[in-house]
Amino acid sequence: MRQWLEIKTRYPDSILMFRMGDFYEMFFDDAVTVGPVLDITVTSRDKNAQDPVPMAGVPYHALGGYLRTLVERGFKVAVCEQLESPEDAKKRKGPNIVRRDVVRVVTPGALVDDEHLRGDESNYLVAVCPEDRLPGPASVAALDISCGEFITSYCQDGAALSAELARLVPKEILVPEADRAEIELMLAPGCPPLECAVEAAPAEDLADRVRHLHAEGGGEKLRTSQLHAACAALAYAEATQPGQTLLLHRLRVHTPDGHLLLDETSLRNLEVFQTLREGRRKGTLFWAVDATQTSMGARMLRTWLSGPLRERAPIVARQDGIEALLAESRVREELRSRLKDVRDVARLATRARLGSMNPREMGSLLASLSVLPALAAMLGEMAGRRTDGSVPAVIELGEDLFEDLRGELARVLVDRPPAQARDGGMIRAGADDYLDEQVKLRSGGQEALAAIERRERERTGIQTLKVQHNRVFGYFLEVPKIHIARVPNEYVRKQTLANAERYVTEELAELESKVLDAQFNAQARELVLFEALREQISEAGERLCDVAERLARIDVIAGLAQVAETYGYVRPEIAADPVIDIVEGRHPVVERMLQSGKFVPNDVRIKAKAGGAEFGRLLLITGPNMGGKSTVMRQVALCVILAQVGSFVPAVKAKIGLVDRVFTRVGAADDLGRGESTFMVEMREAAQILREATPRSLVMLDELGRGTATFDGLALAWAVSEFLHDQIACRVLFATHYHELCGLEGRLAGVRNVHVAVHEHRGKIVFLHRLEAGPAGRSYGIQVGKLAGLPGRVLRRASRILERLEAHERGGGLPQLELFAPRTPDEAPAVHDGAGAESIALELRAMAEELRDLDLDDLSPRRAHDLLRTMRARLET
Ligand code: ATP
Repeated sequence: MRQWLEIKTRYPDSILMFRMGDFYEMFFDDAVTVGPVLDITVTSRDKNAQDPVPMAGVPYHALGGYLRTLVERGFKVAVCEQLESPEDAKKRKGPNIVRRDVVRVVTPGALVDDEHLRGDESNYLVAVCPEDRLPGPASVAALDISCGEFITSYCQDGAALSAELARLVPKEILVPEADRAEIELMLAPGCPPLECAVEAAPAEDLADRVRHLHAEGGGEKLRTSQLHAACAALAYAEATQPGQTLLLHRLRVHTPDGHLLLDETSLRNLEVFQTLREGRRKGTLFWAVDATQTSMGARMLRTWLSGPLRERAPIVARQDGIEALLAESRVREELRSRLKDVRDVARLATRARLGSMNPREMGSLLASLSVLPALAAMLGEMAGRRTDGSVPAVIELGEDLFEDLRGELARVLVDRPPAQARDGGMIRAGADDYLDEQVKLRSGGQEALAAIERRERERTGIQTLKVQHNRVFGYFLEVPKIHIARVPNEYVRKQTLANAERYVTEELAELESKVLDAQFNAQARELVLFEALREQISEAGERLCDVAERLARIDVIAGLAQVAETYGYVRPEIAADPVIDIVEGRHPVVERMLQSGKFVPNDVRIKAKAGGAEFGRLLLITGPNMGGKSTVMRQVALCVILAQVGSFVPAVKAKIGLVDRVFTRVGAADDLGRGESTFMVEMREAAQILREATPRSLVMLDELGRGTATFDGLALAWAVSEFLHDQIACRVLFATHYHELCGLEGRLAGVRNVHVAVHEHRGKIVFLHRLEAGPAGRSYGIQVGKLAGLPGRVLRRASRILERLEAHERGGGLPQLELFAPRTPDEAPAVHDGAGAESIALELRAMAEELRDLDLDDLSPRRAHDLLRTMRARLET
């Protein structure tokens, strides 16, 4: 317990998992806390003592699962191992308690095990260091220790910081004590755990190491706050791996100014990584354009999508890569098929550096590196066919093909290495003379045993005599009971069984010790050789990170080329002027969800500066519910994102003027977690747009002012449109059911009315999903209500009220309340007075009408049954 206490004082805020033989035990408060979390029983160490110590344990082999549960619940766990065997401890002079210490601290932001990590997501530990006080400027450093990625960025203000955090999706955040409350406020509910671990002044040697990593990364100068943030992240990460050296691949400066800013709201509303409703991957932009073959590629694509570019040259460079691979379909297919064999090289390199790489992982590293020569050859041939004699820079593989490491791994490692190094079996025959010799002795011993068996059978004439082995007696001779009369004298009896006797001889004992020695020596030698290989890989860590990055980039580009080919995307022209000109554009996700050919493409033309008559600055989109307004707006925003990622876009032709930021304001959502109502959220989002949008921004408003009274909402929507058009003069798409807003066209030079077309036939509407010039006549809200299954009674009543409201607007002059008064019996509310004959008659009439309207060809048996059930229910109430 004294040892436990000593270690626990060094890790006061972690759950200490203390290895004792085959268990990890937890004591005192740790045991009481984790018992219910892990669903394990809390017992006590000495039940008879006056004050028994609470204790809970988990079996050593199940550690992984328990760790995951604890970390997911936000605990930090210090894993304390036995550093020597109990036998060794006994041999030692002085106190002979087994030496133990913490070998790693597991926290959400410091995970390195495959079983805890998602392949297509980075696992960032993020440190925030304000220049002065928030919401002023602040620096951020993000470190993914599982693959050595290390970046830092500088954020101008609180809004930029919050967008940067949304981009990085940190798993754990380090903050200075003084700013904790401010940062907590900034984060969405369910945010990652915060730790107060950013120091005012980092130690000089730590700062030197960060400066050195930055010098390797090159690029912009490092600010003091960036240095401090990076030091905090590094110090925290290193403390989680005591006694180890992390693999870090340069410190790179990310410049938010060089990127299209997508804040948390836009990432969410545009469903870039998660669908709005169910939070799933399927149905997102990432899902639609991810055709990568490796997890490194998927992670890179994620990074590209969360921070598209804002400068023409690097975008064009990526486009060049895609175009080249689009033209070379054979090369593309072969690249992609080879990449299937490539595992997570960067994470494997980290595991080698931390000494936790197992033989099987080493085998997969070799398999990954073995792909390099073929890739190089393919790209080389492709370069030969191109006029400039080289491949585009983004798909260059580089010179380093790892002949040295590949050669050594192939020479030493067996073809299918085992998962554990402990039992040996990973080193190839012929790789090491000493090992071969021991293996020979071991198998030679086994041959000698077989020879003894043969010889003894002959000598004694007992044909059923066998040489066998067990843990207790080692090698022995087994003779069936019926033959024991023939057993020679020198056999020493060891054990009697029901049907047989077991004997040992001196010769057998000698041979046994030789075989065991050889076995022991071979295993020890295998471990030494394996560790030497691991060391060699660890030394190549930085080079491996380099090649991992190149492979990832090739994977992303080849995947985007594949998507472009499969779904017919085109290379957009990247322009400097603030224009968006999309011919026959499609929504990358909706088109995939619909049957092929069912999606109706649309043209969209917007220009922030005064353009030709066909270009609006602010497009006002009207049309029925379900008509496709949201879809067309989102497809424009998604096209812009894809174009600035460097990808091709789903259109026949597209010209995209660089956008600095995409703003979205969509529908209604309460943010009760932050204590704000629907309308408050709506207005806060609108306020942010008006404050922060620039002439280079793209603003997408899907309804504005709907969460309040009609006139208040309309007034606000009108004023906001004017401000966006006149003051900010950026590109705006505004979908609305306030038809009054259509009056803005003509008053403001840049406003254009467009609408999604519908076809109306005998009271039924058909959505054409086609964008046409001019305002929509009406919203068809009641028809959509009918499609959604509102009761006939409600629909009829609503239609009457609507008719009167519309007549009134045209100058009918009725007092307001009059409009809503029922005029005929079937408009009157249903009265449940017990007699009910009249109301049943009305209900029957309503149902007859519904039956007449029913499209029988389009009616599934399931739906027909549902319909019958509801009709009966209506008659019964
Ligand atoms: P509301 O006003 O109720 O928000 P909306 O006009 O925004 O409606 P959307 O949500 O954009 O309508 O579209 C509704 C559905 O119509 C989509 O889910 C999709 O299935 C279909 N749709 C939209 N646009 C198209 C299109 N261009 N081609 C084919 N189907 C489309």
